[in-house]
This record gives sequence, C-alpha cells and structure tokens, in this order.
Amino acid sequence: DYGPAPESAAEAMAWIAARGGIAGNYVGGKWGPLREDMVLSNPATGERLAGLTRSTPDEVNVAVAAARKAQPSWAKLTGHQRARYLYAIARLVQKHSRLLAVIETLDNGKPIRESRDIDVPLVARHFYYHAGMAQLMGSELPDREALGVCGQIIPWNFPLLMLSWKIAPAIAMGNTVVLKPAEYTSLSAMVFAEICSEAGLPPGVVNFVTGEGSTGAALVASEVDKIAFTGSTEVGRIIRRATAGSGKSLTLELGGKSPYIVFDDADIDSAIEGLVDAIWFNQGQVCCAGSRLIVQESIADRFHTKLKARMATLRMGDPLDKSIDIGAIVDPVQLETITRMVAEGGKDGEVYHAPCKLPDQGSYYPPTLITGLDPAARLMQEEIFGPVLVSTTFRTPAEAVELANNTRYGLAASVWSENINLALDVAPKLAAGVVWVNGTNMFDAAAGFGGVRESGFGREGGWEGLLAYTRPVRKARALKPIAP
Ligand code: NAD
Repeated sequence: DYGPAPESAAEAMAWIAARGGIAGNYVGGKWGPLREDMVLSNPATGERLAGLTRSTPDEVNVAVAAARKAQPSWAKLTGHQRARYLYAIARLVQKHSRLLAVIETLDNGKPIRESRDIDVPLVARHFYYHAGMAQLMGSELPDREALGVCGQIIPWNFPLLMLSWKIAPAIAMGNTVVLKPAEYTSLSAMVFAEICSEAGLPPGVVNFVTGEGSTGAALVASEVDKIAFTGSTEVGRIIRRATAGSGKSLTLELGGKSPYIVFDDADIDSAIEGLVDAIWFNQGQVCCAGSRLIVQESIADRFHTKLKARMATLRMGDPLDKSIDIGAIVDPVQLETITRMVAEGGKDGEVYHAPCKLPDQGSYYPPTLITGLDPAARLMQEEIFGPVLVSTTFRTPAEAVELANNTRYGLAASVWSENINLALDVAPKLAAGVVWVNGTNMFDAAAGFGGVRESGFGREGGWEGLLAYTRPVRKARALKPIAP
C-alpha cells in the first residue's frame, strides 16, 4: 500500500504554487535562493510547470559550506542513529508516493503507471535497504570512514530514483551531500527536500542546488571530497578531466547501447515482452535500455513480424492516463535529436514506426524498429536515448558475442535462450556491468549497478556502492625506527 488516494495534476500544481512556483535551492534546511532564471515545462503539453533557479558558483559554494558544517556531527552519530533518519525518509516517501508519482510524471513525461509502480517504490526500497546498511558501518566496516562532502549530479530520466541512488548510500555512511538535479526535471527534488525536513534530518546533511550544466561544473570545481555523476559519456569525460589530480573521488555512471541477444530456442513470446520492457520502458530513455536487438538469423523474420504486431498494440498518450504504455519525450530538444538521428541514420535500413496515434500537442515519438543496418552504422553504435530499437542478426553464438561486444559501451546485456548451458556460456563473455538471462531491467538496492568501458566506473548499490562512499580510516600510527 503506497498511501492515500492519488493527488491529481491540479493538486500537484497547487502544491508547487504554494511553494512560490519555483524550484530552487534547499541549503542548510532552508529554501533559497528561488529565482525564475529558467522554466520547467510539462513535456506532455508543453505548458509551464514552474520556474527554475540557475545557481551561480557562489551559491553552490554556500551549499557546499553548509554540507561541510553539518558533516562532522552527522558522521559522529552511530550507524543506528543515522539509520533512524533513513527509515523515516523511506516511510515518508511511501506516505507521499502519490504526490511524488504525479509530480515526476508531470515533469518528466513518463507514464504514471511507471512512476507509481516502479520509480517511487524503488526509491523507498533504496532508503530502507541503506538504513539497514548504515547500521553495519561500525560492525562490518570498522576500518572505513565517510569521505566528507559529496557533490552529486544526476540526469533527467529517473529524477527521483537517481537522487535516491546517490543520497541514500552517501548519508548512510556519514557523508553530507550537495545534489544538482537535471535542468528538465527538478520538481521531485523539491518534494524530497520537504521529506528531509519532515524526517527531522539535521540541516545541511542533504542540500540541493538547481541549474543546468554551468551549476554542475561549479559543483565539480567546488571544495567537495567526491563527485558522483550519472549522465552522458560526453559530460562524464569533461568531469573526469576536471577532477584529475584534484584528490576528489569520482564515480561515473554513463551511457549505453546494450545488446539484447535472442537465440533460436528462446521462448519467443517472453523475449518479445522482455524487449517491450527493455526498449520502450520510459520511452527508451534508460541508460541500460536493450536498444540493440541481436537475433538468430533462423528466427529473425518471424521474430520481427511478431514484434511489429506487438508494437502496434502499444498505447501512447497522456502520461497521467493509467492505461497508456508510452508517454512523452522529456523535452522538445531531445525529441528533435531522436527525430534527426532516425531520419539521417535510418536511410540505410528499413524503418518501422508503430502505428500509434500521436497526441496533438506535446513531445511524442512512436516506438520504432530499424532493421538492415550495417553493424558499424551510426545508429548501431550511438546511444539514441529514445524509443528506437535497432536490430541485426547472427548465425553462431560466437558471432552473437562478437556483435554484442562491438560497442564502446558496456552497461548491460540480455541473453534469451531455453538452453541454460548456452546462456551461461555466453553471459560471462559479454562486456557489460550486468547481464540478465531471460530477463531485463532487474534492479535491486542490494546489487551493485554500473558499467565498463565508456559506460563509466564505480558501482551504485550493494557493498560496492557503499564502499564508494567511504575510505580507509585515517589513524595516526607511531612508526618504530628500523634498527640499523
Ligand atoms: P547530461 O550528461 O547532459 O546531463 C546530466 C547532468 O549533468 C545534468 O544534471 C546536467 O545539468 C549536468 N551537466 C551538464 N554539463 C555539465 C558539466 N559540464 N559539468 C557538470 N555537470 C554537467 O545527460 P542527460 O542528457 O541528462 O542524461 C542522459 C544520459 O545519462 C544518457 O547518456 C544516459 O545513458 C545516461 N544515464 C546513465 C545512467 C547510468 O546509471 N549509467 C543512468 C541514467 C542515465
């Protein structure tokens, strides 16, 4: 049970209006500055939702100073004391789940079914899990201590979930944080800031600075001890350069072009349903989206025909409508990128758009399948970050592995076969942070998630994710002089 009756869009808008209609900074437990430097819009309608403050480097430094001030006493609490706050946050996320889900859908365009049944429950789960882990800091990790102040920068595709992946492990381990939400989607962070206040979290433990890339760059340049970034490989590279030699810890969760391999003995219907989830969940705006179908040649025609039939049944429309499958693309700029990439790159293949009726207003792109491209083609290699699947065929398992690994990324992979020996033989040969067998998009707070190659380094979740927010305890030791 995730709380009382759903808040409507009007109620969510009233909630935002009651807070001045502006998403801005939350620093030291207080709001401000709040200025309308930019505008947040609803991608499903194009209408204005709220104003957004573009924080300056000075304002970022004020937030970092608040986090610095709060950190020693936060780290001094026992793990058990910190856990109580994380449990309280988890419970309040559940209590306010309807408001969170509606605001997330208004801001991002994702179907309410997803924000309500996937994003928000996973957020609560993340805080419950890390509340438990906070208590282990003394017993299971006796020689580790918090890093200090962590700067965290997140993308727009899972605004609240990415926020929880960043904040929960950091504060569980005794760090304080300054987090910058993405410029398209900063509203759920506002609700979360109020949840922190309601949970009685000491001021300065969690701080938010809003803005675009320039605010993120100011956070990277500030006096933080760690930067945790999720976003594009391009910006990840800039951040890696900017932090090199600075002594700051760094974890990067970047892009992907994940393979979805279907062998001829796979359960075809399950593989098709899995594929719908892999590439059309959140309109394909998922870092680990199974965006490259690699299907065995002997079943390829049958598989494509069945897939197209399934695509034709997908319902697209108002993301607040509980019966729709495909919502809006986050922003007109992103829509334009997808449209251009398919128009240019699709010319060399065969493009099939699902025959969905596109809503009259808002940013929408139909589920799309492109076949017949060369493995080296741009659309086979580059992340589109939209509802577009590219497909190629293979004959032997070795060829499937070669095609799957023919990418600069390495975030996730799926293997579909009823022959478990074959699946377990292929899985470890794939260059990917996670491989799902006969499944896709399975996440859990207890399992580390992250990539290899240009998909980044470091893990979020599980033990690895916790360790990434700690360092060995620095103890003074008297060294005995070595006898001559
Ligand atoms: P983006 O890199 O453009 O932006 C991400 C964040 O970085 C935003 O908050 C943005 O304001 C900020 N930013 C931009 N320029 C910056 C700079 N120079 N310095 C510091 N911060 C800066 O990415 P996006 O378009 O928001 O998100 C899509 C990308 O994120 C995709 O590539 C996707 O694969 C990736 N992603 C990865 C994961 C993962 O776990 N690996 C999860 C979600 C999304």
